[in-house]
Order: sequence, then C-alpha cells, then structure tokens
Amino acid sequence: MAKIIFSVALIPIVLVYIADSRTCKNVGDKCKSNEDCTTGNCQERRCEYSPDTRTNVLKASQHLRLGDMKRQPDVNTRSGILPESYRWPYGTMPYELDPAFSSSELDLIFKSFRAIEKRTCVDFVERRKEKDWVYYERSKDKGCASDVGKQGGRQILNLSGADVEGGSDCFHESIIVHETLHALGFHHEQNRHDRDEYVSINWDNIACPEQFNFYKDNLTSATTFGVPYDYVSIMHYEGNEGGIDPKLPTIIPKLAGIKVGGNRLSELDIVRINRMYKCIPPQ
Ligand SMILES: [Zn+2]
Repeated sequence: MAKIIFSVALIPIVLVYIADSRTCKNVGDKCKSNEDCTTGNCQERRCEYSPDTRTNVLKASQHLRLGDMKRQPDVNTRSGILPESYRWPYGTMPYELDPAFSSSELDLIFKSFRAIEKRTCVDFVERRKEKDWVYYERSKDKGCASDVGKQGGRQILNLSGADVEGGSDCFHESIIVHETLHALGFHHEQNRHDRDEYVSINWDNIACPEQFNFYKDNLTSATTFGVPYDYVSIMHYEGNEGGIDPKLPTIIPKLAGIKVGGNRLSELDIVRINRMYKCIPPQ
C-alpha cells in the first residue's frame, strides 16, 4: 500500500517537471532553434507561407532560386514527382514563348533547351495543338518561378528581367535550365529525404516564411532515381541561399571543402533526367 501511495504521489511531480521543461518566460522568446515561446510554452515554430514576404525576400536577395517552385497545397506530398502523370510523354515538352522576350533572351532560352537536349532524350518542341504545354512568360514581378512537373493545360514558367522594377534578372542560362528542370519534374536537391546525411540546415539563419524551402521531401512520394546526393547539381541551392545574414550559411555540407550549388548541368543531373524519362543511353 505504501508503495502505491508513493507511486501515485510521484506521478504529478514527474508531470510538473516535464511541463516545466517546456515552459518559457516571455512570448516571442526562442526556446530551441526551431521553437518559439508561444503562450508560455516552447512550441515548434509554425511558418505560414506568405506570398508578400516571399516577394520581399526575393527583392532583397540575389538568390534567384529561393522559393522558385510554385507552391501548391499538395506540393509536399508529390515532391519528387513520382506519378507518371506529372511527366511529359516521351520526354517531349511543348512550349510557347511570350512575344515580349527580346532576341537575346530568346537566344538564352534556346541555348538552355539545347543544353538539356544535348545529353538527354528530352526535347523541346514549339506547341502546335498539344493540350499540355509550358508558356515561358516574361513576367513583371514574379521572379523566376516554375511549377514542378506537367500540370495539365497551359502552365506558366515566369522569367523576369532586371529592367523590370522589382523583377529578378532571370536571364542566365543556369537559371533558365534550373526552372526548366522544375517544369520537367525535378525538385531541389537539398530537399531530398536523405539530405541530412550530406548537409546540415542552419535554421537560425532562415527567416520563418522561407523555411518551407528547406523542408525534406516525403520519402513515400519522392524519388532520387538511385542517383547519389549531388552537391553540385544545378538544382542545389547555394550555401547561403535564403540566409537572413547572407554572410552566414543556410546549408552546411558535411563533406569538408565542398561548395554547394551548381551553375550548369552536372553529370548526375544528366543521369537523373535520363532515368526519369527512361532514355536509352547512347551505345
Ligand atoms: Zn528552383
């Protein structure tokens, strides 16, 4: 009997101790790096997506790849784009080009298409009557942005020019290839479900509304096509991309001496595209 009373008396003490360890003094205080003090308790920080904040960060940043995947309610469940319905049949992506592009901008877009076509079986064809296609739009203030994979019907890939007030300068081959790879169905490399084995994320240097850019893919829906982690993928953010303090990293590679983020298609990018589109390698 004495033992039972002792145990019953101990339970509230243990519970109080656990509750105490989760309380904090002032609302707004930081608890752990990924927690905020909310109503007196340390709670995991909830980041709500805000298009306005994203636009402001984009304007203040030279990081053109930050938040460039058009966000849809189910994006995290289909990241990696496993379903075949999000791929372009036979690896052929029909496109239309905004008449507002200048001839030098068009040259860059075509150069980007050729860079992908040269090493893969993917090809880009001017749209005739195809029901699904990508419209490359010279957008005013939407930065550089693309849907991930084929959406059905007309989907817009935004490229803005530096001459547009508030616009990003998307006219670099690396950016156009990057956005086009999103349209083909690729996600950011650092979002891979296994990325923690290769990089650490410095959450303290990432503004709350931008943290979703660094969430990991869902293992059940994402696929890596059996390709090793690629620090230099054109789909990998740079090391300080999205940083509150641009001098500090947001992504820290676990392999010493590696600089993350690529500006051209890497060898592994090419393997990945060929695997997604089941290209037969040249004999
Ligand atoms: Zn991107």
